[in-house]
Amino acid sequence: MRLRSAAKPPEPAGPGRSLRAIPGGYDIDRWPIACAIRAGETIESWLARAAARYGITPRELLAEAGVADRIERPGRLARLVRQHAVQLACTLGCPKADVHSAAAEMLPNSAVVDYLSRYHAVTRPTPAGSAFCPECLSEPDPHWKREWSSIFAITCGIHGCLLVRTCPRCSEQPWSTSSWLSQEPDTPIYRCPNRPRRPSGRMRRTRRCNFDLRSIEPFEMDADAICAHRLAFQLWRQYVQDPGSRLRVTDIDVTATIAFDALCQLVDESVRIFTLFEDDYDRTALVRALRNAGEVLSSESASAAADKADDLELLNPAGPTTPIGPDNVLLRRKRNPLLAAVRLGSVRATLSPAAQLTFDCGNRHPRYPIRENADRTWQRLPEHCPALPELDPARIPQVLWPGTVWAGAGDTATLAAAAQAMALTKIGDTRPWTIIALDLGLPKGMATPVTQYWRQVVRDGHWPEALAALTNLKEHLRHHQPSIDYQQRRIIADDPRRLVLALTRAGASSRAMGRAEFGDVVRRYWERFTGGDIRYAAFPYALRAEEPAHWQQKRSRIDADHGEIFRTAFELMATSESLRPGGPLTWEPP
Ligand SMILES: [Zn+2]
Ligand SMILES: [Zn+2]
Repeated sequence: MRLRSAAKPPEPAGPGRSLRAIPGGYDIDRWPIACAIRAGETIESWLARAAARYGITPRELLAEAGVADRIERPGRLARLVRQHAVQLACTLGCPKADVHSAAAEMLPNSAVVDYLSRYHAVTRPTPAGSAFCPECLSEPDPHWKREWSSIFAITCGIHGCLLVRTCPRCSEQPWSTSSWLSQEPDTPIYRCPNRPRRPSGRMRRTRRCNFDLRSIEPFEMDADAICAHRLAFQLWRQYVQDPGSRLRVTDIDVTATIAFDALCQLVDESVRIFTLFEDDYDRTALVRALRNAGEVLSSESASAAADKADDLELLNPAGPTTPIGPDNVLLRRKRNPLLAAVRLGSVRATLSPAAQLTFDCGNRHPRYPIRENADRTWQRLPEHCPALPELDPARIPQVLWPGTVWAGAGDTATLAAAAQAMALTKIGDTRPWTIIALDLGLPKGMATPVTQYWRQVVRDGHWPEALAALTNLKEHLRHHQPSIDYQQRRIIADDPRRLVLALTRAGASSRAMGRAEFGDVVRRYWERFTGGDIRYAAFPYALRAEEPAHWQQKRSRIDADHGEIFRTAFELMATSESLRPGGPLTWEPP
């Protein structure tokens, strides 16, 4: 190896060079002294140690290894190291996988920035730099550890002490800028690599802080804080290495993203996570917040986690993170599905039927309603099948399909099919009963009898069974989406002339069959076309008061007599109308 200055341009590729073998796409010469990255060591620490072995600055080492680029910010360094991980590993003679995994863990606070963009739709510059354990740095041949660099890093698991955040001399976090890249090769790793700043904030280009970080007196921490640090580090690491990987937290199966977000949300609820991006945040409050979050998340079950949260005044049902109402705040923020399962699961039994539907309480773990276009991969638990589309409310008919009405309340003839269609729509929906009734084309006064219907079901002790039946139906329909857009059908049928015209062209004639019979044929066609019940139809389809009793028998007779006309009329509408209905005339769940 021949050292050259970082400033010198790379040698031109002559004809002789191109004949050399290029292993793995890189032109790599392994250097004579191997310097492997240690388990848990930061890339910065590794590069600084390696550069010291060769008697060059880290910047020169990077240039010599072929990562020749101007590096002025820690973010730039992280990108370059990730890009050239294989090259650096080969040059310094260490396993590629080790460098890859260490490179993935550079700039650990970008995970918190990701959280901010997911949950608060804002971004922040990623804070760089690292806290440290003075005792660890006092060990022979020390190195800097990756688990010190996150803002959630609070304790040293080996020495049981508080990690020191800033250097007492320069008042900044070591490694927070890229100035260490040009430090003298003989600088010991336990000295602060920062350049001190002038009162104006500009760095003094010619000076180093060089404070001996081993000389700081350690501050002892309790076991809870150490556990909280470990859990935060473990959740963070799994998120960074593989955000979609699974783990169990409070006995609930979650992805690494959901678990890390849950930690951030709990911390956020106590200290406002934004404040951690300022220099002078309250570290004692952060330690308390992490300890409390750790206690909640390391509970053995969701209900134990809810009890713990109550003790610690977290996951307040009236607070911003896991509110149980009013309905208009539910969609205002992104909700973490793990914390939702913990909080909503604990209050489930006390909620009204309407709220239980809104929170999807028929599932093993309840969940918050979310917007249609929301990213379900991190707002839904894996058991809620986030990849499967939700049931489109437009595909729910005015009354449930005959075979799907829950019969546990006995009576299925009068109100049940409409009340259950409304309840099916209400699952995961924040809209009030009145709006849902309107949406299904039901009379606006429908909300009152439907509420009474469900109250009666609750009084009779059948509610859990009814909720389970509706939830099963909804999940079944997610797998078998109805092929009819009933909303569109209701809009088309809103103008009765469309139906009458189609029936007439299909061969129905009021002169031949009589006025009353023709009226009934139109009504029955309306029922089949919209998936509705004529008792809830608006003028002019509506029946006269004395008629409903006989309608049930009339239905099957009309279907038998005029089935062919209905099919032809529908085909005509599906091919010739300007507003064409899609799908078949009628549909039923398989
Ligand atoms: Zn230590
Ligand atoms: Zn310093």
